[in-house]
Amino acid sequence: MSAETPRRTKIVATIGPASSDRETILALAEAGMDAARLNFSHGTHEDHAERTKLVREVSEEMGRPIAVMADLQGPKVRIGVLAGPVKLDTGDEVVVAAEEAASDGELPVAPTAVGEVLQRGHDILIDDGLVRLRVESVEHGRARCVVLAGGIVETHKGVNVPGVPVPIPSLTRKDMDDLDFALDLGVDFVALSFVRSAADVRDLRELITAAGSHAHVIAKIEKSEAVEALDAILVEADAVMVARGDLGVEIGTAIVPLIQKQIILASLERARPVITATQMLESMVHHAEPTRAEASDVANAILDGSSALMLSGETARGDFPVQAVAYMDRIARAVEPSLDYRHELPGASEEPTVGQAMSNAACDLAESLAAEAILVPTFTGRTASAVARLRPRRPIIGMSHHDYALRQMAIEWGVTPMPIEEAVDVEDLWAKSLEAARQTELVAEGDLVVITAGTAVNLPGTTNVIKVDAA
Ligand code: PEP
Repeated sequence: MSAETPRRTKIVATIGPASSDRETILALAEAGMDAARLNFSHGTHEDHAERTKLVREVSEEMGRPIAVMADLQGPKVRIGVLAGPVKLDTGDEVVVAAEEAASDGELPVAPTAVGEVLQRGHDILIDDGLVRLRVESVEHGRARCVVLAGGIVETHKGVNVPGVPVPIPSLTRKDMDDLDFALDLGVDFVALSFVRSAADVRDLRELITAAGSHAHVIAKIEKSEAVEALDAILVEADAVMVARGDLGVEIGTAIVPLIQKQIILASLERARPVITATQMLESMVHHAEPTRAEASDVANAILDGSSALMLSGETARGDFPVQAVAYMDRIARAVEPSLDYRHELPGASEEPTVGQAMSNAACDLAESLAAEAILVPTFTGRTASAVARLRPRRPIIGMSHHDYALRQMAIEWGVTPMPIEEAVDVEDLWAKSLEAARQTELVAEGDLVVITAGTAVNLPGTTNVIKVDAA
């Protein structure tokens, strides 16, 4: 056999005003969108409900799971309400104060706690760092600043105070409302912005579990605190996102490429899907072709080991949303044949669990026998991630009787999700897995396959057998 190996790196596309109609969502899916991101920093609940409905319909129509990700705004610091845009010139002086306390002519910031932590020497970056201030002195909660880089400041523009911990909860009131709404919609992933610690992830998961949802948590790594706490965050999170936009503002753009590699490698070690995001094909917001540098960035993110790549403005508000997905697909297909087995991960982890050791062995068997595919019946999708971790050259078919697990596997590298009925015992599981594999274009009757599964069927985390069989 068999059909062309599917694209291994997955594509997440943000749905926004440029991509909210049924026709465009269908075209995005046909071009290769594996997950649709709803950015709760923008749009109304009605917008997000309509977009989710359309993605579900299109996914059904195509017979392919497409995940829906709700991206919560998180504790973002912002400029408060201004009477009009304020022009600041380099060298000017300006006073920054908490929103409730700011007088005319001063720059209000929200939430209030930010005004309270500012100290002499702190840098305040506005609008992704386009405008930069440095605090010269603080009196009665008002920070007198000098403008290091001038520009126009408008209402609700983002504010970053790099390296300064702001004592505000990880989920704002808006996030709680958005979370309730997103869970009611049945989203598959909840991405949390400005994660600072593993506890932030834990708190979100408790709310998701209490709501009876199976949604997975994606920790967005965009603060220096999160980079420092990465190992602990990876234990708690189901997946992570290298959120290069705010990360660049917080730690400086020059170091982002290196930190990206570190985050990806740490995620691979823990077998967590990792999404590289922001400005990947930025010029495609207005042009039908990417720049050479953007094509290189996409290629390098794949070579670094990303599980998925994300488009933001390109698909949410750009003039060429479908072309952006199609171009990302083309670049991925051009680069992927050069990825080696165990790419980026020459050794297996030092103290693997039984499930991880089984997954490593299954990959080695598939490689040495040149098996047609690796079949992974899985309850939660975790075993599919453990197999994907080693980047085997053969396709991974992730099978589950849970629709949510199939959609969650849609963002995992190299995994083709495939539904199976719930098995009654392990013999039944083998038979159902082989039958489902034959229904894909990847495996034909008689092809050699490797299956890894648990004898305690339908119990998560019990992978303990490998079988080599003919489909
Ligand atoms: C980012 O900052 O890179 C990011 C993905 O988050 P957002 O788009 O929500 O700013």
